[in-house]
Amino acid sequence: MNKYQVKPGQEIILSDWDPGDRSAFVGDKDVAEERLGALNRELEELQELLYAESKHKVLIVLQGMDTSGKDGVIRHVFEGVNPQGVRVASFKVPSPDELAHDYLWRVHKQVPGKGEMVIFNRSHYEDVLVVRVHELVPEPVWKKRFDQINDFERILSREGTTILKFFLHIDLDEQKARLQARLDDPSKQWKFNPGDINERKLWPEYTKAYEDVLNKTSTTWAPWYIVPANRKWYRNLVIATVLVETLKGLQMSYPLPKEDLSGLVIE
Ligand code: ADP
Repeated sequence: MNKYQVKPGQEIILSDWDPGDRSAFVGDKDVAEERLGALNRELEELQELLYAESKHKVLIVLQGMDTSGKDGVIRHVFEGVNPQGVRVASFKVPSPDELAHDYLWRVHKQVPGKGEMVIFNRSHYEDVLVVRVHELVPEPVWKKRFDQINDFERILSREGTTILKFFLHIDLDEQKARLQARLDDPSKQWKFNPGDINERKLWPEYTKAYEDVLNKTSTTWAPWYIVPANRKWYRNLVIATVLVETLKGLQMSYPLPKEDLSGLVIE
């Protein structure tokens, strides 16, 4: 999965990254779904261990254009994990109270504690994406945020947080098909937001903003992965694989009992 990881300072031109890529997996969709099932079970066990050991903190950031599949990742990659110890934090348009504070205030409150895994559905990166594209703050203000975000994430990392950031990469045609599918299916219409049509017109501006994010904020302590996301099964497989490999790398173990339990029998 290393090929999807952005190296620190790497110049990113998203048109060079194929959103339909499936080269890291040999086999058809059925085999992929079986593989995902196996990864789900592995993740379930690793998360149990994370919770039991209560030492590491894990933060997963999901970003991507509208319809890129953030909700789908949460549903399919984390299927089966114990809700005790896993939490989703969604970041929407800030409330007046949130706006009265610095942009990291609401974010810092949601970071994982020991033994916890938190998934950010959107994140502090909106403060250099939508905020930049819609000129919600002046350029000198958002420009300083790349360094601030790197510093913020370094603090979290040094305090024991493992951070993984996934950019779900789809193309304009795929978004068109997904928006149309939402319109055509009564059970999906609730997901359709007329504002998405205007955002879609800003695709080049968002692309530029994402390229800067990927170029400036992929660090050794909080790397970005550009996930080919036109195929949902492939997107899920890439993220589940990175997550499982990373959690295995933490070398976690179940805590030893405080006293010798050998020979103890419950009457
Ligand atoms: P989603 O599209 O994630 O399913 P919503 O339709 O509720 O959920 O969209 C959330 C909206 O909040 C997005 O349009 C996003 O750009 C916006 N948003 C998130 N963070 C900020 C921010 N810091 N400033 C302005 N808008 C934000």
